[in-house]
Amino acid sequence: MVQTTRSLVHNFNAGPSILPKEVFAEASRAIIDFNNSGLSILEIGHRTSLFQPVMEEARSLARELMQLDNDHEVLFLHGGASTQFMQVPMNLLNENEIAAFADTGVWSGKAIKEAKLFGHVEIVCSGAENQYTSLPKSFHVAATAKYLHLTTNNTIYGSQWQDLSLFYSCNVPLVADMSSDILSREMDFNKFDLIYAGAQKNVGAAGVNMVVVNKNILGKVNRVIPTIMDYRNHIEAGSLLNTPPVFAVYICMLTLRWLKNLGGIAVIEKANAAKAKLFYETLDSLPLFTGRVAREDRSKMNATFVIENASLEKEFLDLCKKEGMVGVKGHRSSGGFRVSMYNALPIESVQALTDLMRQFAKTKG
Ligand SMILES: *Cc1c(COP(=O)(O)O)cnc(C)c1O
Repeated sequence: MVQTTRSLVHNFNAGPSILPKEVFAEASRAIIDFNNSGLSILEIGHRTSLFQPVMEEARSLARELMQLDNDHEVLFLHGGASTQFMQVPMNLLNENEIAAFADTGVWSGKAIKEAKLFGHVEIVCSGAENQYTSLPKSFHVAATAKYLHLTTNNTIYGSQWQDLSLFYSCNVPLVADMSSDILSREMDFNKFDLIYAGAQKNVGAAGVNMVVVNKNILGKVNRVIPTIMDYRNHIEAGSLLNTPPVFAVYICMLTLRWLKNLGGIAVIEKANAAKAKLFYETLDSLPLFTGRVAREDRSKMNATFVIENASLEKEFLDLCKKEGMVGVKGHRSSGGFRVSMYNALPIESVQALTDLMRQFAKTKG
């Protein structure tokens, strides 16, 4: 028998992170017996009539949920977003060309570092002067830039571009790392020529990237691209160029199915907004806690905040632990607290956390 009960934990982990419990239930059955085949999902070939429909459904669900046009292809590729930091410039940027970057935190910094291996980088705006507590909204992108790269949600600092139309008027191709907010809110995904997201936040299990690419921007660099790194080969092969991370892709497919059954991105966007509202309203009502990020740039996915007094910080973390709240501690590079409220996190978890914050503030106030 498959054990499906477990103790109740509120999971605020930043990634890998919470996924829908329906996905865990279905996946646990598939590990034992996938689609009544008598085989585990872990022991089937990727070019079989059992797995191919999984890849096809994952790709078509992503296409449908994001309402992509026919120029855009969906791929599920090995590695994490960090692999895309190099794969993107390898495919798009010639050595003598410039890629423009919005520098908004740790992850965009890492993307910049890798792009420099392939061509020139121009940082058109940076949040560094404000210690990344707000987003730098005035910038100019030269028409000669091959593309502009942005990070839609800054997972570590807890900021998020709320108005993406700022970028739509740049008139250069847009590349976006959407690892930590993809499928969490509606946007015009077709405005982007390349989108990538490590799956382990909103899409599924670690080990796979979801990549959306406008095929018209490919084939324009003159370097030799290794076979497995060339997006065109993956498009050609229907995202089955070599053995994909079969189980990770399966989890993505189940999560995409879950999102579709829920009503799609518009529905989850409302739920995410309600969670963020509850959280930030509580935060702002309690002087003990201070948000790290300018209000207008606050992320609905990852909220960061501090308590000025270090011993109280520890006390609050201990209390969270005792109450079954996981992942409240801030990123090792920035300290304080961070709570991630991804698609699969129920509002009940935010309610439980905000109740705890209120109770804690009362005893310390
Ligand atoms: C988590 C994250 C990454 C890194 O993903 P890996 O899969 O660990 O490579 C990159 N960018 C953003 C915005 C992230 O949130």
